[in-house]
Amino acid sequence: MGLKKEKQTCHVCNKDNLQEIISFGDMPVANAFLKKEDLQKPEFKYEMKVGFCEDCKMVQLVNIVPYDKYIIPDTDGIRNYAFFSSTSKSMTEHFAGMAKDIEDRFLDSNSQVMEIGSNDGIMLQAFKKNKVLGIEPSHNVAKIAADKGIDTMTEFFSEKLSEKISKERGKFKTIATTNVFLNIIDVHDFLRGTYNLLDKKGVFITEDPYIQNILSQKAYDQIYDEHIWYFSLHSLENLLNMNGMEIFDAEKQDVHGGSMRVYSCKKGDYKLTDRVKKYFEEEKENKIDTEIPYKRFADEVKVSKEKLSELLAHLKNERKRIVGYGASSKGTIVCNYCDIGTETLEYIADAKHKVGKFSPGKHIPIVSQEEVFRKDNPDYALLFIPNHLKEVVGKEKKFLEQGGRFITHWPEPRII
Ligand SMILES: [Zn+2]
Repeated sequence: MGLKKEKQTCHVCNKDNLQEIISFGDMPVANAFLKKEDLQKPEFKYEMKVGFCEDCKMVQLVNIVPYDKYIIPDTDGIRNYAFFSSTSKSMTEHFAGMAKDIEDRFLDSNSQVMEIGSNDGIMLQAFKKNKVLGIEPSHNVAKIAADKGIDTMTEFFSEKLSEKISKERGKFKTIATTNVFLNIIDVHDFLRGTYNLLDKKGVFITEDPYIQNILSQKAYDQIYDEHIWYFSLHSLENLLNMNGMEIFDAEKQDVHGGSMRVYSCKKGDYKLTDRVKKYFEEEKENKIDTEIPYKRFADEVKVSKEKLSELLAHLKNERKRIVGYGASSKGTIVCNYCDIGTETLEYIADAKHKVGKFSPGKHIPIVSQEEVFRKDNPDYALLFIPNHLKEVVGKEKKFLEQGGRFITHWPEPRII
């Protein structure tokens, strides 16, 4: 029996009832791959801990990493973002569908539509009849959107920015944001800005990974510095209520390992749908508003770590050669949490742009899939992009034909 840990202050409701669920130990920034000349310099690390607030129910990072540790300007001082949404066909279809739903359900010909974190315009390009505005702080993707003719402001969204937008462009019938809200440190400022810009019966739509999926899939590799909040409908409802808003509908989505699209409005504007009532009940049945499922998750994650360590140790004992595959943020979490370094993995094979760098924390060299991995023929490759398994298996037929096998940590550590 250890001493009962002191509770900390919740980043949402400010009460001192934030209970620690799990610590992953000292963790580097998950996407901060290092250049060779930076290997000797001190690397920023923080204790990555997840907490559950007994008051507002929000699951959150206990230690929040400031933006300037991971939003790193390129040499020209301009913020750039490496992922272009529209290069993914399935995501293009997903967002076109989302735009159509919004259009059919909420918009008339005079409505204005806004998206915060609009990337290269992947969703806004699908609106044909309405005036759109994208807010996108990364210059390179914002430029692609602007080149497509999508009105885009290259700014971080805030309450202050909302005042400027309101004066210049008026109000918006829908404000959408996907995979952005979970990254926002000051969620209250963000929601005050949203509230300011919502038109009469305006709708705020968020889509983020859903806590229920993270728990059931033991997807601990979704936890990292940029993901500050892990939303349930209960916690999101409490957060919205603090800012004069409430949830009236939600819809489960089959993207990013399971997401929840949540529709909210100013208090009293819409009636709750039967669908969202059912989801709230489901969360109650799963005790999502208590610490129970989170404690269970913590236990399962610890078992998963032990299993992976045992599997790798066993293969090393048999003198097998093991490498990593896919230089991802998930890989950074798995390697640092499970203490997997160069004693186990000779290298991590990746497509182009991280080649020549080293993995955060463990400093495993990143090499080219094409130039090294496909010529090398190691015995095993630990897959750090398990969500792309099908695609990888298709690409690496030769490796498999020569007797190579993939290992995954997720959802259970095993050889595939
Ligand atoms: Zn709280």
